Amino acid sequence: MQEIYLRAFFDFSTSCHDRILNFTMGKTVIIECKDLTKTYPVETTMVHAVNTANLSVNKGDFLVILGHSGSGKTTLLSLIGGLTSPDSGQVYIDGVENWQQSDRALSTMRNSKIGFIFQFASLIPTLSVMENILLPLSFSQNPAGSRDLALDILAQVGLADKAKAFPSQLSGGQQRRVAIARSFINCPDIILADEPTGDLDEETEKDILGLFRRYNEQGTTFVVVTHNSDLAATQKSARVFSMRQGVLSSQAA
Ligand code: ADP
Ligand code: MG
Repeated sequence: MQEIYLRAFFDFSTSCHDRILNFTMGKTVIIECKDLTKTYPVETTMVHAVNTANLSVNKGDFLVILGHSGSGKTTLLSLIGGLTSPDSGQVYIDGVENWQQSDRALSTMRNSKIGFIFQFASLIPTLSVMENILLPLSFSQNPAGSRDLALDILAQVGLADKAKAFPSQLSGGQQRRVAIARSFINCPDIILADEPTGDLDEETEKDILGLFRRYNEQGTTFVVVTHNSDLAATQKSARVFSMRQGVLSSQAA
């Protein structure tokens, strides 16, 4: 099985090879958050979901953000990915501020640069596994060869035989693996992952974290939020942060 994963990975590397050739280990900032704040009204009070977060992520970094439920992790990821607008503060992706551009430019940026792994698999029930994986490409200009790429990635997550299945025919862990495959389809520079291994068995979790590590070593930047404090140790050189009541702080790895 491991062999199939590796072979598929090298095929995939070829498909995404322009992106990878352009990668040079350096200190180019790819994500920058400045005084990022998001508050929600809850009953009579305001909840500071994210409170004045500052963060600078270099190309090729692997960030792990640890925090209990309700600490603001999902809100932070959705601010970084331009899915939620902040009350104040800025997010720069490759030097461009998310909300200083048109909706169209923001959505093009998301589609071309970011792969999202949502906390809940969020697959479309009426589409097959293959169709779900190809979905992020619907808006992009060059889907040629994308079915082969999708099959490669499906093999990498151990679901080569499930391309034609529908989400309802898959277990929760398998659905999550499809969502992970979908996040890689556009060869994104950045993967934003929300509790990506939450409902996976130990063996599959190991495979997925191995996959993350290989992509990261090839230059993909990761921001992973989790409550699994062992996750960082599975990566080559993770930077670990913690989040508590909306406050983000760095930790010694
Ligand atoms: P985590 O992902 O760490 O569990 P969240 O970012 O989901 O944390 O939530 C942080 C806080 O913000 C929680 O108190 C949550 O109830 C609140 N919150 C998040 N999203 C909303 C929303 N859309 N409306 C109201 N409150 C929200
Ligand atoms: Mg969450």
